Amino acid sequence: MTEVELATSVPHSLELTRFAIDEQFMRNAMAIALDGTRHNEVPIGAVLVQGRSIIAGANNRTVRDQDATGHAELIAIREGCAALDRWRLDDCTLYVTLEPCAMCAGAIVLARVKRVVFGAWDEKAGMAGSINDLLRHPRLNHMPEVQGGLLEDECAVMLSEFFEDRRLPAP
Ligand SMILES: [Zn+2]
Repeated sequence: MTEVELATSVPHSLELTRFAIDEQFMRNAMAIALDGTRHNEVPIGAVLVQGRSIIAGANNRTVRDQDATGHAELIAIREGCAALDRWRLDDCTLYVTLEPCAMCAGAIVLARVKRVVFGAWDEKAGMAGSINDLLRHPRLNHMPEVQGGLLEDECAVMLSEFFEDRRLPAP
């Protein structure tokens, strides 16, 4: 888990539409993403949700850990499997602020994640439709339900501002 205070669940009593629920959890992922910038991490965040509760949340740790595989989705999946003590996450939804890369899309399929909701599209590395679609590859044995572009603009601005502030070229 990160240092960010998480709203760990959405009350069942609230009559929320699926869109409102998705938006709530995407905003949780965005808050976690932004928290990573304190450590100079690119602001990408993910939360793993079972029912209406967050069971894992992570931002990128590539810089802090000097680990090329330290992506938010991968860490959230690992934490989620540990929290549930099982490798199948077929009753979970993963919310992530950026379209998953090949590595993370592969991990999502392996973990049998039921549903993936992502924010901004990633034309340079996205494997949920941009470059290719590993998440919904017809020959793989699991195909999650995928929804892209939720709070797309806000998730994209978060990234572009990060690179502008540091005058870094976007990767
Ligand atoms: Zn990734």
